[in-house]
Amino acid sequence: MSQPGDRPAVPDVDRLARSMLLLHGDQHDHDPPSRTVSNGESGHWSKSRDFTNDPQRAAAVREASLADRERYLTEGLQPVDCRFCHATVTVKKLGPAHTAVQWNTDASQRCAHFAEVRASGGETARTRTCPRLTDSITHAVAEGYLEPTPHGPYG
Ligand SMILES: [Zn+2]
Repeated sequence: MSQPGDRPAVPDVDRLARSMLLLHGDQHDHDPPSRTVSNGESGHWSKSRDFTNDPQRAAAVREASLADRERYLTEGLQPVDCRFCHATVTVKKLGPAHTAVQWNTDASQRCAHFAEVRASGGETARTRTCPRLTDSITHAVAEGYLEPTPHGPYG
């Protein structure tokens, strides 16, 4: 039985973004110490690499990577309504059989399935997603609703 909404993917994406940042920072450590540092300015060159002398550039770099990250995290996120209880969650298609579902408080309050679980004394924390919503997401995927937008950076 496949469960598209089984794993909340946002932490995964976050971890991925972090590991990408780590990869970037890695070059720093492996930079060969071949450049001779003049006595008066010990370590100065490595500081300038962090743009400490150029706050404008540093801000631009920070802004660009934030925008990149933001785009990476939100790209492909689409609202999907549960056809049964009309809770709206955001869904991102990560692969052919893998979708990430983001529940917000409003959606989990509104979801009839969660309400049922609560009413019968169950734990909503153990109920990852609403089966009817999963069904709605499957339909959305089948209809191509969650495909990446055609006017993206790749065409
Ligand atoms: Zn529901």
